[in-house]
Amino acid sequence: MTHRSGRHFLQIPGPTNTPERVLRAIAAPTIDHRGPGFAEFTLDLLAALKPVFKTSGPVIVYPSSGTGAWEGALVNTLSPGDRVLAFETGHFATLWRAMAERIGLDVDWVAGDWRHGVDPEVVAERLANDSGHAIKAVTVVHNETSTGVASRVAEVRQAIDAASHPALLLVDTISSLASIDFRHDEWGVDVTVGCSQKGLMLPPGIGFNAVSDKALEASHSARLGRSYWEWAPILEANARGFFPHTPPTNLLYGLREALRMLEEEGLDAVFARHDRHAEATRRAVRAWGLEILCEDEREYSSVLTAVLLPEGHDEAELRRLILERFDMSLGAGLGKVAGRVFRIGHLGDFNDLSLAGTLSGVEMGLSLAGVPFERGGVDAALEYLQASDGAPDDPVPGRLDATEGAERALA
Ligand SMILES: *Cc1c(COP(=O)(O)O)cnc(C)c1O
Repeated sequence: MTHRSGRHFLQIPGPTNTPERVLRAIAAPTIDHRGPGFAEFTLDLLAALKPVFKTSGPVIVYPSSGTGAWEGALVNTLSPGDRVLAFETGHFATLWRAMAERIGLDVDWVAGDWRHGVDPEVVAERLANDSGHAIKAVTVVHNETSTGVASRVAEVRQAIDAASHPALLLVDTISSLASIDFRHDEWGVDVTVGCSQKGLMLPPGIGFNAVSDKALEASHSARLGRSYWEWAPILEANARGFFPHTPPTNLLYGLREALRMLEEEGLDAVFARHDRHAEATRRAVRAWGLEILCEDEREYSSVLTAVLLPEGHDEAELRRLILERFDMSLGAGLGKVAGRVFRIGHLGDFNDLSLAGTLSGVEMGLSLAGVPFERGGVDAALEYLQASDGAPDDPVPGRLDATEGAERALA
């Protein structure tokens, strides 16, 4: 392999670029995970995790990918044959559904077109029709990473409450956590599923379950088979600063550092930064004359933008060219949109000039690949970045504040 100078642009929507500070933290020597120093570290880490989920409850830390944390959410709260209401928002929702069916759940699947998020009105309707309370859980992928569509979780909560339905609300925030506003406690989420390699700016290897009191209560009677994923022994050991298995010690060092970075920047500023880079990206896509996959501006994702190529043009070829010429990785089209859609990740450790470089690579790639488009997307993005200073109170057009959206839905 020949050496390529400069930094590789990892602009897939996860794993994201790991900042130097986090890499250096990970490089510290591994210590005894049963020693007193480790217990002190863990207790501090578990407390520091809560603000990211906006919860005062426990957050379970698994040595796992996000997929493992999906399983944790299901097997701790549900029993064989339980009905789960799930929505076809894209590839990840489809995978979570497949897992639920494989482990013995009965999934009530609401078909979707991969261009919209979960419709809160459909949630309200399905639950209103379930007077016998057969539905035990509603699962929602907050940010559908395959489509760049963000579902309105606060409005889904309102819909469940409006139906006075006792179903648990399980939410996948794997690609939204620490990038898009999310409020575990305020939105009454029962299990929040997260992982390390997206907004948290870490390498892959840690999964999370943030757990409500109601979910904890459900775990006492849930009968799906589980051992490694079982919350109870983890919570018991965590109370003393330990784990019932060997934890991913060095990744946990990195996590502590990433949480410090988020604290220093401030979560609201982190969210505003993501909103602003997403808006700049959409301006570039529109100037190119290409189509954004997400069709409802209330659901635009601030984490990534999925772009539809004109008929007859292959996203895999475009990405191959961009990787070869400019050393940048873009997200592939997944599942039903493979071949048609490429994804620009603009999350994690990222700034205006990283976006400028990213969009420049896309624009040159479109030209080299012979895709019909208009030049000027990069200029449109730069103009917007220059004109908006990125302060949290600098509103980004086309995106409602999550709570404001819920308030409007209620009115
Ligand atoms: C990445 C991702 C997953 C899968 O996580 P893994 O770490 O690959 O197991 C699940 N859901 C969403 C929304 C994701 O973005």
